[in-house]
Amino acid sequence: MIDRAPRDDRSKNSASHDWHALASGVLDGRPVTQDEALAILNAEDDQLLDVLAAAYRIRRRYFGNQVQLYFLMNAKSGLCPEDCSYCSQSKVSEAEIPRYNLLDADKVLDGARVAAERQAKTYCIVISARGPSEREMNAITTIVPRIKQQYDLKICACLGLLTDQQAADLKACGVDRVNHNLNTGEKFYGEICSTHSYQDRIETLRAVRSAGMEICSGGILGMGESADDVVQMAFELRGLRAESIPVNFLIPIPGTPLAGAQDLTPRSCLKALAMFRFVNPDREIRIAGGREMHLGSLQALGLYAANSIFVGDYLTTKGQPPAADYKMIEELGFEVVRHDEPSCELAETEAPPA
Ligand code: SF4
Repeated sequence: MIDRAPRDDRSKNSASHDWHALASGVLDGRPVTQDEALAILNAEDDQLLDVLAAAYRIRRRYFGNQVQLYFLMNAKSGLCPEDCSYCSQSKVSEAEIPRYNLLDADKVLDGARVAAERQAKTYCIVISARGPSEREMNAITTIVPRIKQQYDLKICACLGLLTDQQAADLKACGVDRVNHNLNTGEKFYGEICSTHSYQDRIETLRAVRSAGMEICSGGILGMGESADDVVQMAFELRGLRAESIPVNFLIPIPGTPLAGAQDLTPRSCLKALAMFRFVNPDREIRIAGGREMHLGSLQALGLYAANSIFVGDYLTTKGQPPAADYKMIEELGFEVVRHDEPSCELAETEAPPA
């Protein structure tokens, strides 16, 4: 069982900040420091709208009002030998979830059709595993070229730990990007998993980069980590130049060791999204699992910092109906984009740093 008592942070930085000056610095090419990132997480609630407005200036520079949609297929569910405490598919989970081996090719292909219909830019194929077996690698490397032939989709594979050879094979078959989340800061990692290490995850991300693929890596908030741990993760991702950063908010699924955990508020989630935007200004920031549950009625505000969401369900939990996502995006005055299109609005208003 995990001790979920919040850990001590460095001195809470309650000094008032000029968030717009901080954003201007980022837009002028001055990266935020770890203390400044910590200050964003620790900002008073009455500064929330200022923090978000400042984060939005950075978001607009790089992504305008565009929103990228991701569609996720849980291609193999449960049956994982790892013990990640947040995960309903782990060997220590007693959660009531579907458990099945790798779906056949037709089902994975059909998922790609749904992704394309829902205007997703990227189709994420996920399996629960420490790493892919030879049979699973063969199945993935066979199906990916078929998907790319039929649909205009980017492919992100989330298959667990990868060797250099596996990463090279994924690149060769057409996988664009690999998702492998750091999940939390290095110091806290041992609290959430004992069967593999933070360093194992870093090495997989290095293999992905060496193979020439993009890195999708983010984390889960609300597991009992400190604000320092979250900042450390955000900076690690900056160092890795992760192209895409999914920010999950823990869904404390009954039957998992973290069942019942509740460290988050909608305001703290929004500050976290803003912090990731400040630290990783030109990277995709995605509001991932737990969006509906934790942001509640403030969900739409998250898109002032983030520029991406999943449309549809998560791995073992339901998302809101796609129609609600499209409506939210439209009501914000934002638009779904399926490709990396330059933001005209931004090009006209603020020149990017040289
Ligand atoms: S390795 Fe992945 S699927 Fe397995 S328990 Fe950890 S998070 Fe869950």
